Amino acid sequence: MKLIDVTKKFTTDDKCLDYIEQMRWPNGEIGCVHCGEVGRISKITREAEGKNKRTRLFQCLACGKQFSATSGTIFNDTHLPLTKWFMAIAMICEAKKGMSALQVQRHLGVNYRTAWHLCHRIREAMAEMGGLLSGVVEVDETYVGGKVKRVGKPFVKKNKKDVVIGLIERGGKLRLVPVPDNKMAIIEPVIEKHVSPDAILQTDDSAIYHIIGKRRFPGRHRTINHISAYAIGENHSNTIESAFSLLKRGIIGSFHKVSSKHLGRYCNEFSYRFNRRGEQLAMFDETLKHITRGKVLSYKKLTASEVSA
Ligand SMILES: [Zn+2]
Repeated sequence: MKLIDVTKKFTTDDKCLDYIEQMRWPNGEIGCVHCGEVGRISKITREAEGKNKRTRLFQCLACGKQFSATSGTIFNDTHLPLTKWFMAIAMICEAKKGMSALQVQRHLGVNYRTAWHLCHRIREAMAEMGGLLSGVVEVDETYVGGKVKRVGKPFVKKNKKDVVIGLIERGGKLRLVPVPDNKMAIIEPVIEKHVSPDAILQTDDSAIYHIIGKRRFPGRHRTINHISAYAIGENHSNTIESAFSLLKRGIIGSFHKVSSKHLGRYCNEFSYRFNRRGEQLAMFDETLKHITRGKVLSYKKLTASEVSA
């Protein structure tokens, strides 16, 4: 879906609401969000006024409470029209290198804080779930945030940088995991958590990976020495390298600076989009679905330490 299509399709909050209702109750049976009652629900239509901006409400005849299609979702926690939410989701889904709050602010004509909060809440809905990576899995780590001198991997000279472990199933899914350090005690559990023990592990030839490979992937660990060659046939880590370069271009090009606190969400957003490249329409729907079923991420929680990017 192109941004322009969203503009055309969802021109009013009512049209957005229709879509959210379809997402939330795909078989058309409205369920009470308070007590779960299905069936004894009546529809109320009213004029939107003040804070009560929903024109369509449901009345549960079982528990007596009212609700709308956005009740309990992050859509409800905002004064922003649904049309702007939809635009922002489409923009973030479409932006290959990522979309900064500043760009969203400009496109939507909202203030910076609103745009920033909006972006983070959409990113939150992009949290990736899923099983273990299998087949050939490339694993490597990269350093994000400013310049860093790498002296004989995995040693990093001074300046503590954010470390991101990248794991990708060749021809499959990507995971990006920010970690506080590049020590084996940190890297190994990440590999254990995301990679099937039956996989073929593909890494560079740093000492850490040799040890992990021997221990967890005996006879199924391939290493490539990047000083002598970047690829020997199937033995390469080009897939994860290209994902890293996209992540870095995004951080530099769109965000300029990402604080460590929010790096996890950015990484989520990147892998989410990376894993759905070429499927923008499905990505838009999936993100909306997550939002209508997800929990509210409050501004207070988000801004616990700082506002950036
Ligand atoms: Zn009810």
